[in-house]
Amino acid sequence: MYSSSFPGSPRGTTCQGSRTRIILCGGGVISAAISYYLTVLSKELKKSIEVIIVEKGAIACSSSGKAGGFLALDWCKGLPIDELAQKSFSLHADLAKTLNGAENYGYRRVETLEIYADDELEDGKNIELSENLNWLDQKLISNMTTIGTSSTTAQVDSYRFTTTLVNEAKLQGAKVLQGEVIGFSFDSEKSKND
Ligand SMILES: Cc1cc2nc3c(=O)[nH]c(=O)nc-3n(C[C@H](O)[C@H](O)[C@H](O)COP(=O)(O)OP(=O)(O)OC[C@H]3O[C@@H](n4cnc5c(N)ncnc54)[C@H](O)[C@@H]3O)c2cc1C
Repeated sequence: MYSSSFPGSPRGTTCQGSRTRIILCGGGVISAAISYYLTVLSKELKKSIEVIIVEKGAIACSSSGKAGGFLALDWCKGLPIDELAQKSFSLHADLAKTLNGAENYGYRRVETLEIYADDELEDGKNIELSENLNWLDQKLISNMTTIGTSSTTAQVDSYRFTTTLVNEAKLQGAKVLQGEVIGFSFDSEKSKND
């Protein structure tokens, strides 16, 4: 159940015969990725899946349009999500090939550094900087560590990534409705019949 400026808005997730309707609440990167992969799955299974994103503002208007967009292979080591993070890193690489990510959403492999600066340092610690870091003020750097190489870290423009996924899903029939989800209502009789 949601309030919407669109007439005839759908009420929830329903199955009608062989057709499945899936409603995603919010148009951030999570819904964008789900909508994209549902349309891919729909094609693969030759099964009609109606995908609808309900967004109260605009696609990627929140965190997903403002994030740094860092992707890392091994920053979750020791955590329960480590395997997922590794799979996600290689899925991003595959996806960037499929969707021309370099051009469409700035996918690139990067070297990632963690740099500490201290404006009270007199002369710095003379940490050697490579040429592509000559915009940094060497005098202020107190410590610098490489936390990712081009084999283990990458970056996307998170706004363009999110909107690209949604646009691809829309090309395959997904819909975006503007409206605010205000709750869910379940119809047990209807579910039994579907
Ligand atoms: C400054 C910053 C830097 C970050 N850097 C990184 C990074 O480098 N790497 C990384 O992996 N992650 C990073 N993150 C985290 C990442 O951005 C978030 O984890 C991710 O964007 C969350 O996506 P989401 O789809 O869950 O939510 P959101 O992007 O928040 O999307 C939720 C959407 O739902 C809509 N919505 C909310 N309530 C309703 C409702 N009732 N009805 C309809 N619509 C609704 C909102 O308008 C919004 O568009 C960063 C985040 C920030 C803020």
